[in-house]
Amino acid sequence: MRLILLGAPGAGKGTVAKLLTDIDGSVQISTGDILRAAVKEGTELGKKAESFMKAGELVPDQLIMDIMGERLQEDDCQKGFLLDGFPRTIPQAEALKELLEKLNIQLDGVINLDVPRDVILDRLTTRRTCVDCGAIYNVKSSPTKVEGVCDACGGKVVQRDDETEEAISKRLDVFEEQTAPLVGFYQKAGNLVNINATSSQVVVDTIKTHVGI
Ligand code: ADP
Ligand code: ZN
Repeated sequence: MRLILLGAPGAGKGTVAKLLTDIDGSVQISTGDILRAAVKEGTELGKKAESFMKAGELVPDQLIMDIMGERLQEDDCQKGFLLDGFPRTIPQAEALKELLEKLNIQLDGVINLDVPRDVILDRLTTRRTCVDCGAIYNVKSSPTKVEGVCDACGGKVVQRDDETEEAISKRLDVFEEQTAPLVGFYQKAGNLVNINATSSQVVVDTIKTHVGI
């Protein structure tokens, strides 16, 4: 399947994407994961992106489009892809539209994960992420078996740098200003599916029905 997953930070895009990749071999493409890996490795891209990310601000559109232009042409995208955290601005959505036309790729839809702000806030402050494999845990609802250690790979599980209260609040503001308008953009384009996303499993089932699997 070929989908865009839209939704606020903490709406469950990553969790839903991981559940969906297990179903049909589509790959999850998370610009956040790509950027965090680049920061960790200290690449040119990482150096450019780091300060924006720490502050909870968006990385410049051009940098993101350079990454995605290459990423979508890699072999593993043939079976399908789930875009998680991209596009994030109207210019990114417009550039993606052109890119998909150029590559002759058609989307199955744009899924908007709708979650109330208080649920989002609670989720983000209790969320923990594996620094090695990106697995997501929650200290309240889905803790690791051993505190601070990833069940999947044994890596260190931590609170992300941008998950301090200040950065979270900044990210939610940025989302409202720059990313929320994408809902209208895709509604106009006619391929938006709105899902009340309080439960990730319900989201997955609704998406399966939508794409017919
Ligand atoms: P979340 O969805 O939880 O906010 P992500 O892992 O998607 O987190 O993104 C983390 C950070 O990476 C963002 O706050 C932003 O700085 C940067 N980032 C990720 N994707 C994009 C994008 N498409 N455009 C601009 N910046 C991005
Ligand atoms: Zn791990």
